[in-house]
Amino acid sequence: FKYVYDFAEGDRHMADLLGGKGANLAEMARINLPVPPGFTITTEACRVFLATGEPPPELGRQVGEHLAALERAAGRRLGQVDDPLLLSVRSGARFSMPGMMDTILDIGLNDLSVLGLGKTPERERFAWDSYRRLVQMFGSTVMGVDSARFEKALAGIKKQHHVADDTRLDTSDLIRLVETYQDVILDDTGEEFPQDPAEQLRRAVLAVFTSWNGERARIYRRREHIPDDLGTAVTVQTMVFGNLGPDSGSGVAFTRDPATGRPGVYGDYLRNAQGEDVVAGIRNTVPLQRLESLDPASFARLRDCMRRLEEHYSDLCDIEFTIERGTLWMLQTRVGKRTSQAAFAIAGQLADEGLISEKEALARVDGPGLARLMFPRFDTSGTREVLARGIPASPGAAVGAVVFDSAEAVRRSDGGEKVVLVRQETTPDDLPGMIAAEAVLTSRGGKTSHAAVVARGMGKVCVCGAEDLTVDPDGRLFSTSSGSSGTVREGTVISVDGSEGLVFLGAAPLVDSPVMRYFEDGGQPPREPATQVVRDVHRLMGQADEVRRLEVRANADTPEDAARARRFGAQGIGLCRTEHMFLGDRRPLVEAMILAHDDAGREAALNALLPLQREDFIGILEAMDGLPVTIRLLDPPLHEFLPDLTELSVRVARHDAQGRPPDAHETELLAAVTRMHETNPTLGLRGVRLGLVVPGLVAMQVRAVAEAVVARKRAGGDPRAEIMVPLVDAVEELRLVRAEVARVLERVSGGSGIPLDCPVGTMIELPRAALTAGRIAEDAEFFSFGTNDLTQTTWGFSRDDVEAAFFSAYLDQGIFQTSPFETIDREGVGRLVEIAVAEGRATRPGLKIGVCGEHGGDPDSVHFFHEAGLDYVSCSPFRVPIARLEAGRAAL
Ligand code: ADP
Ligand code: MG
Ligand code: MG
Repeated sequence: FKYVYDFAEGDRHMADLLGGKGANLAEMARINLPVPPGFTITTEACRVFLATGEPPPELGRQVGEHLAALERAAGRRLGQVDDPLLLSVRSGARFSMPGMMDTILDIGLNDLSVLGLGKTPERERFAWDSYRRLVQMFGSTVMGVDSARFEKALAGIKKQHHVADDTRLDTSDLIRLVETYQDVILDDTGEEFPQDPAEQLRRAVLAVFTSWNGERARIYRRREHIPDDLGTAVTVQTMVFGNLGPDSGSGVAFTRDPATGRPGVYGDYLRNAQGEDVVAGIRNTVPLQRLESLDPASFARLRDCMRRLEEHYSDLCDIEFTIERGTLWMLQTRVGKRTSQAAFAIAGQLADEGLISEKEALARVDGPGLARLMFPRFDTSGTREVLARGIPASPGAAVGAVVFDSAEAVRRSDGGEKVVLVRQETTPDDLPGMIAAEAVLTSRGGKTSHAAVVARGMGKVCVCGAEDLTVDPDGRLFSTSSGSSGTVREGTVISVDGSEGLVFLGAAPLVDSPVMRYFEDGGQPPREPATQVVRDVHRLMGQADEVRRLEVRANADTPEDAARARRFGAQGIGLCRTEHMFLGDRRPLVEAMILAHDDAGREAALNALLPLQREDFIGILEAMDGLPVTIRLLDPPLHEFLPDLTELSVRVARHDAQGRPPDAHETELLAAVTRMHETNPTLGLRGVRLGLVVPGLVAMQVRAVAEAVVARKRAGGDPRAEIMVPLVDAVEELRLVRAEVARVLERVSGGSGIPLDCPVGTMIELPRAALTAGRIAEDAEFFSFGTNDLTQTTWGFSRDDVEAAFFSAYLDQGIFQTSPFETIDREGVGRLVEIAVAEGRATRPGLKIGVCGEHGGDPDSVHFFHEAGLDYVSCSPFRVPIARLEAGRAAL
């Protein structure tokens, strides 16, 4: 089994095996760029080590062979006393994890070879400086000594000599430092610093393997959704030295500006330094451009390498390099990270330059990047004290006065004030306050908490789980344990940065997003003078729309949302919820309907609701004229429209205690609420079950839809209403409702003389529905996957409860990398989707199928829905452009 590859044996496509760093070093060597020779130990070897605690038995011999080849080529041996070959041992995973794992430099030095390395006077200091770096790095990363102990020894010597800078220490100081460091190691571990270079190498390799599971690396992987079982490769490479004097140095470079995408010379250079000093910021670097005057020949060679790399990779590359005595060495390259703005700009430029195709340009950008471009940002050029840090749950920047409950949020916002709702966590009761607020800030809960999900759906800024915050709603203040800010009272203005998860005191200045303005204006071709980023976005949106197969609709319940969705490019409404139409000042009518004693009372209440619903639908159908509008019949359990049981009981009890005669209405309400109380409302009387149990409810809603269609047709419009039945388990339920829908449509059509053709379909949001989709399709003219409920019921997770209870433990233990409520679980929920698509279309060829859960706007999930053969995704209006872009990328 082959566990070791020489640079000459690898290439850039082998990142799975050689890690990104190893694969790209091999690639650079292959195209004859100057790379110090070396070899890479595969991730496979690391995986064996992590699984068994032992490296594969063949590894030692294979490393020995490659090392021997390296020594022959260099004409020097590891540990050779008069002129030692020195090595770096570098970590490098499939996905870049900068600084998260260990790298050890100068392997091969010991008490003897340090003398060989420093045999000439001008090299003496350099040799001891390299040795003390090795002893420190090896001591802390391989032998586990607390690095503070080394820092302390170093600080002691510097203090003794009254110097602030390591570079001011002379050779004898460094010799003493090496001795002290070796004593520290012996004292701490009971073991000597290993003098045998072969042992140094062997242990350094194992330490890099082990650093895959270090805490830093694990946290980073979790945040970046990198799987835990990939392992790291280990690259062993000949050392080159940037610290040999003023004609040496190290630097980093980008082939284009990673912030804006503009071509040019970007980077930093540090004379007489090792690469790690550049990153550590020990001394001040100079702009890379200065290298042109410092060392014109090396600068020209570097420019040449950069040009060749960019052409070779057809993308922005970032580079680490070292110059040793006027000779340029390339130490690392990779396709560089960049801001969202630069991503769009570079994709466009590379297509212009003919380096990549228009389609490839589309592949180079992504939905999350577009989302970042759409949100206004805080201008962070000034410094500002951070009041609290939390999870960036819904991006954007918002400023407002702190309020602690929903009612106060509504009151102040009605008065024209901008507010930020601050809660420990939110519940559906906070909805009016969340709508009124600019931002929501909670001290508990993660990315899938109520606050986060609802805020994202509304395109509202949200920072959740800000744990250093203590919220005291009764005292109308919160306190923070970070910074010196102490307590913040109601009415204080704060700034919430949902992209970074930061909260500031006071109003931080905002900068508007030109990309958002572009979408708000309907995505028209930008007119001059347009900002570059808008031109770049417009071009790639056009490309996405051209290639995508998935349609994109929006979830919208009001004419305003519908109109915005349309400006953002929605091709219809995939989900129009009717429950919001039962709230607010209509609540008494809904109450009357629920409390009605007889058919007459219920009918009266329903009749009062009818014209209101009809007007709602007219507005929405008008905003979406000519495009499909999928209207869902009432879904939530009825008690959601009644007061809370506990609150009501307290009120009635207080009333009693005060000796007042019972309030008849409240007593009746209490009886109804008690009667309707459900232990598990999500699985209770809701969805289609309501329609089958509450007489007249379906008829009223369908009549409102039908009459709205008639009104729009009379006004010369082109209304395309579709009726969607939620929470169907069995075809029999759908059949009953469908018969009633048909009766009502016929009646309205007969009465008005206007033909009505409203397709009736169903949501597939229960496992049983997915598994019997073939039967359900007999009576459904379309399917729409409700992936929120489908995820809840497939996993048996109550979304409102599990998130806070154990999701972070699940993420920690790698049970999933992302919450299944954020990104569709392909393996389980996705399988049900595939079954339902196949069996539904077997019954009814060409069955129109969409998705209207939160997942409809999630980039990864959009790719899945494309692959599963759906016709459309539906998401909140603000996510429509993101879904369009991702649907285009999915089709590439
Ligand atoms: P990271 O993945 O954290 O960037 P690297 O493996 O790139 O770690 O190592 C950190 C630094 O060590 C590099 O930036 C480079 O300057 C220096 N380094 C690594 N290998 C060598 C080498 N063979 N010669 C000289 N310097 C090296
Ligand atoms: Mg590096
Ligand atoms: Mg549902």
